[in-house]
Amino acid sequence: MKTLPVVSPLAPTHLAELDPAAARAAAAALGEPAYRAGQVARHYFGRLVRDPAEMTDLPAASRERIARALLPTLLQPVRVLSCDDGATRKTLWRLHDGALVESVLMAYPDRVTACVSSQAGCGMGCPFCATGQAGLTRNLSTAEIVDQVVSLAAMADRELGRRLSHVVFMGMGEPLANYQRVVAAVRRLVAPPPDGLGLSARHITISTVGLVPAIRRLATERLPVTLALSLHAPDDDLRDELVPVNRRWRVSEVLAAAWDYTSRTGRRLSIEYAMIRDVNDQPWRADLLAELVAGRLVHVNLIPLNPTPGSRWDASPKPVEREFVRRLRAAGVATTVRDTRGREIDGACGQLAAIGGSVEAEHASVGQHTERLDR
Ligand code: SAH
Ligand code: SF4
Repeated sequence: MKTLPVVSPLAPTHLAELDPAAARAAAAALGEPAYRAGQVARHYFGRLVRDPAEMTDLPAASRERIARALLPTLLQPVRVLSCDDGATRKTLWRLHDGALVESVLMAYPDRVTACVSSQAGCGMGCPFCATGQAGLTRNLSTAEIVDQVVSLAAMADRELGRRLSHVVFMGMGEPLANYQRVVAAVRRLVAPPPDGLGLSARHITISTVGLVPAIRRLATERLPVTLALSLHAPDDDLRDELVPVNRRWRVSEVLAAAWDYTSRTGRRLSIEYAMIRDVNDQPWRADLLAELVAGRLVHVNLIPLNPTPGSRWDASPKPVEREFVRRLRAAGVATTVRDTRGREIDGACGQLAAIGGSVEAEHASVGQHTERLDR
């Protein structure tokens, strides 16, 4: 695989990148008492506050300076689109170097989920995915990932009166191709305040195309996050085409790594399978998939394909989808069809940035966002 570009060297240092000792040192370097770092952290992680004006326990004279130094602006909102009566909100962000990424907030009766990006673009080249078409721009820094979550948590808190409970790495990018920063971000998300957001690792899902060594490494991190594997085909011939990284790690290898993950963490594997008309939706493929996964700690999520502009592929017809579900369930495999969220605002992570936030984005009907992975 080609070498990935590193994070832009110009990314400003942010509290979310610093351990408590380094944050204290950063405060001291500004000529402030070291404990100011803890005060800023309590605002950021504990109260989801970034505006220095709201940090009234800091002396007025230095509030601005210390908050700006520890919490530089990493994400500028370019636009926010909402649908489902405001229950789904998608934000397109511009990063300090102009790269565009997006995140989506989805409110359900029993949970509030942030779908975040781990890279600007993606280098994995899956042909049905808008992000894959544009290629990889760069990895996101740990703080750029954490700050998406904190921003969406603040949005949930202030605009919906709800508490963010879940995070899914299903936005732009392949999280396991930006392994260290994603894992560092997850550690921040689960650390109790004021060092992190205090989310449950079980409520965090990392979705991967199947980078086998990284899955095996994740299994040793003692972070029981939920793993979602984007399988999309049960046979190597077709998966080679739909998920090009399959040429490196075959279906059997990726599933072996995933079972190893489930046995080490006790977490149920979520298998994602985009239903593509006449491509991967045949009854025999449902049976083959069932054979591969029956009896395992697994849940299959079928995702109706959201066709990308100019794509030759379409979503499977509903009767075909129903038959696929029926066969999996008949074999004892827990299966759901994802409730697709955000279609009318162009739900797909990747689409909005690909279009550059133009007006068409509001009318495009593409969207891979959906969720309810635990169902
Ligand atoms: N790169 C990671 C995570 C981001 S993509 C991965 O591939 O798993 C999140 C999910 O959306 C993946 O399952 C991906 O295959 C799926 N997806 C991408 N484009 C899609 C589309 N056009 N329609 C439906 N699902 C799509
Ligand atoms: Fe990348 Fe995931 Fe899209 Fe494949 S589906 S190109 S891995 S974001």
